[in-house]
Amino acid sequence: DAKRSGRHTWKCYSAEMHATAMARLTVLTRLSGSNLDNELALAWQTQHAGADGATIGAEALLRWPSAPGDLGSNDRLIPLLEETGAIVQIGQWVLREACRQQRLVLDTIGHGCRLSVNVSAQQLVHTDLVADVRQALAETGASASALELELTESAFMHEPERAIRTLHELRAMGVSIALDDFGTGYSNLTYLSRLPLDKIKIDRHFTCTLLQDDVDTSICRSIIFLARSLNLEAVAEGVETDRQRSWLLDAGCSAMQGYFFSRPVPVEEVRHVRRVPPAAPTDQSSVLWEPL
Ligand code: C2E
Ligand code: MG
Ligand code: MG
Ligand code: MG
Repeated sequence: DAKRSGRHTWKCYSAEMHATAMARLTVLTRLSGSNLDNELALAWQTQHAGADGATIGAEALLRWPSAPGDLGSNDRLIPLLEETGAIVQIGQWVLREACRQQRLVLDTIGHGCRLSVNVSAQQLVHTDLVADVRQALAETGASASALELELTESAFMHEPERAIRTLHELRAMGVSIALDDFGTGYSNLTYLSRLPLDKIKIDRHFTCTLLQDDVDTSICRSIIFLARSLNLEAVAEGVETDRQRSWLLDAGCSAMQGYFFSRPVPVEEVRHVRRVPPAAPTDQSSVLWEPL
């Protein structure tokens, strides 16, 4: 196809390259230095108990409201921030801002909740994450035991031993650790048992094809089983329907996050998140999932 359209394709390609270079430049100029407070914001997506819809936590998600072009989407923005290295500084901003808003969110959804922050693998490599967390907590007065960090498997690829040490230090401070997007990365199962984790988040990909795709349904069931075997909590991401909710609950995954419960919202709208009652009682789960 590219060959057939010949010179025309080259022009498009070069225009695209130019657009990418411009996007990179925009990111580097607008998202650097002291203007992050003016550019960036957080959205909060609540997490719920699948059984009764009770709010059990919330995740902070990066937003760039005045982003140029298609960089308003994290699927485009985050990879660019990773590529340019800007994610390190922006990650520090996210951490501090989430800690700053912690009190307000907990006042709204309950003080027993945990609030999670996504951390890039680069933050483990290029900054002292423990020092950053300490500083964010000290500056904002936020509580370590209400803070959770979400990391992906990529965080353990570069310097696994160092990453593991860092996580041990964070947990000693009372911070909890969730493994995000589980099942999509280079899941190394022997490794998994060595990582100091509290939670595994089942990637949205598996949840969204639940009950449609047999393989994904089996994978989902296996991840839940694996989490239980390792004494970790499983949290399903991307729960959009009541059928998914009740399947997950029956399969032994009680913690959930997704549009079925709430979309990510600005901090002042968190109080409007409704508590979703279950459509029908599901009593099987407790029978099927007695402690192993
Ligand atoms: P994630 O951490 O797995 O976050 C969940 C993503 O799924 C969010 O997308 C959320 O809006 C979306 N989502 C939640 N429920 C549903 C649902 O029911 N259906 C569908 N279709 N989507 C749902 P978002 O906000 O665009 O973020 C995408 C990714 O960007 C995040 O995935 C995370 O990997 C990354 N990210 C977001 N904020 C940060 C951050 O502050 N730092 C870093 N390093 N990464 C971040
Ligand atoms: Mg996450
Ligand atoms: Mg995820
Ligand atoms: Mg994701």
